[in-house]
Amino acid sequence: MTNPTAPLELSITEIGSRVRGLRVHDVTPTLGPDTAMFFLNTAPQVTPLSRHATEGAAANTWEIHEHSGAHVDAPFHFDPEGQTIDELPVDVLFFRPYKKYDLSEFDLAPGAPATLEQITHVGHRDHLTLDEGDIALVDFGYDKYLPGMPDERDPSWWGRNQPGLSEDACEYFAEAKVIAVGSDTSACDLALADGQMSAGTGHGQHFLPNGILIIEGLRGLNAAPATGLFAALPLKLAGGTGSPLRVVLLEP
Ligand SMILES: [Zn+2]
Repeated sequence: MTNPTAPLELSITEIGSRVRGLRVHDVTPTLGPDTAMFFLNTAPQVTPLSRHATEGAAANTWEIHEHSGAHVDAPFHFDPEGQTIDELPVDVLFFRPYKKYDLSEFDLAPGAPATLEQITHVGHRDHLTLDEGDIALVDFGYDKYLPGMPDERDPSWWGRNQPGLSEDACEYFAEAKVIAVGSDTSACDLALADGQMSAGTGHGQHFLPNGILIIEGLRGLNAAPATGLFAALPLKLAGGTGSPLRVVLLEP
């Protein structure tokens, strides 16, 4: 008789092939001088340091804001007592179940935060249940405003405009004890209309001071299923307030 609580006995090769059999959705924008950024932050700058023709090998120097592209905010970003990025467990964002709240149907305007009713409506519609340690992802549908997309705006528009999350929506995610809340916008819970902030209690109150990480700047969430596995590793930046991430969503 087999013990139902015994761990699955799989070889390393079998584990590897099962993981590699998952469909990979890369939800990371390319980093570079054209990366869309939160309006107060500067985009990465790249300076060639050596070149094939002159030095025999190519290498660049990068100057990168901690909160560039897809990135995670460490608690210390808003909480002086909170953990810095290098103090977080290495696997804090590694192979976590994610639940994606696709709010694109509401076509939320800049400065008009998503309500708890909208979050729970989508949760019921897509059969989402949040468990402790999950990652909650919010797809506002704001990719469409980026350069080259159907409703493209001025390149700086995306970093100055976003719906954000109402306070009760922030409380809902915090009470579920998720490990992180992420979005396809530049500042997740903060509501911005042309750079004017009108809501956003996740950064300073409900998320970071409770050790709940914030992930921003995700791209292409619409192609990923509503549930799956989230995998990313922050850079080990000494005293860092955040770190760029390469984020993949894995679909069984
Ligand atoms: Zn950030």
